Amino acid sequence: MTQTGKVVAITGASSGIGEATARRLAADGHRVLLGARRTDRLEGLVEQIVAEGGTAAFRALDVTDAQDVRAFVDAARAEFGRIDVLVNNAGVMPLSPLEALKTEEWDRMIDVNVRGVLHGIAAALPAMRAQGAGHIVNIASVGAYEVSPTAAVYCATKFVVRAISEGLRQESGGDLRVTLVSPGVTESELADSISDPAAREAMKAYRAVALPASAIADAIAYALSQPPGVDVNEVIVRPTASAQ
Ligand code: NDP
Repeated sequence: MTQTGKVVAITGASSGIGEATARRLAADGHRVLLGARRTDRLEGLVEQIVAEGGTAAFRALDVTDAQDVRAFVDAARAEFGRIDVLVNNAGVMPLSPLEALKTEEWDRMIDVNVRGVLHGIAAALPAMRAQGAGHIVNIASVGAYEVSPTAAVYCATKFVVRAISEGLRQESGGDLRVTLVSPGVTESELADSISDPAAREAMKAYRAVALPASAIADAIAYALSQPPGVDVNEVIVRPTASAQ
């Protein structure tokens, strides 16, 4: 286990991939600040990490609110003195066919999955530039590379995250690392937000073969563990048995 002790802020750390990432990075010796809306979950997670010898704190966070995201990053700096890594992980996936016209759900996906990531970049970039080093890890999806029925808007948000990540990488100026991690089907609470009955049913079969969330945490840990001159740009992780 490496004891690199980076300061890592993770959005959407109350379940699934964010929670697994918090556990893994804390076990690796990093100091983690956890953000999400369900603070009861975060509180319990921080207690467990600390009980296992890790260093962790939490803060209520809604990534759709730019000021809140700024306060979240500021809290990492106040608590731990700096911000080395921001993991933009928070996301929602209320799938439905376009003709169902679930426009509020389209807006929510754009607000959380796209604006949330931009708010994170806006909050962390100035501090990382001032430090002369930093690492932004954006969680996209296999849906950042292909579109499927009921997933048009969700995939669109992930295509955007991929485009933003590539643009940020090109502008990194040599002191910012940018990693896009794209999971295939992974055990989490993501499909719980699907309100469309047909899309919800279809997801049961699609999600029958799933990675443990720790598999994505492992990919993030790998990117963080590289020396400063090595930038792991894109990682796609699918279940071996998955065709999509
Ligand atoms: P979960 O639903 O388990 O976790 C999503 C996290 O996002 C929760 O911690 C939730 O916390 C948080 N979140 C949602 N809305 C907000 C908000 N407005 N502000 C702050 N936090 C928010 O799903 P996953 O772990 O699967 O999702 C993590 C990421 O992985 C997402 O970006 C998702 O798109 C991506 N992904 C997941 C795949 C999978 O199969 N699981 C496949 C491909 C990509 P809270 O509700 O407490 O705020």
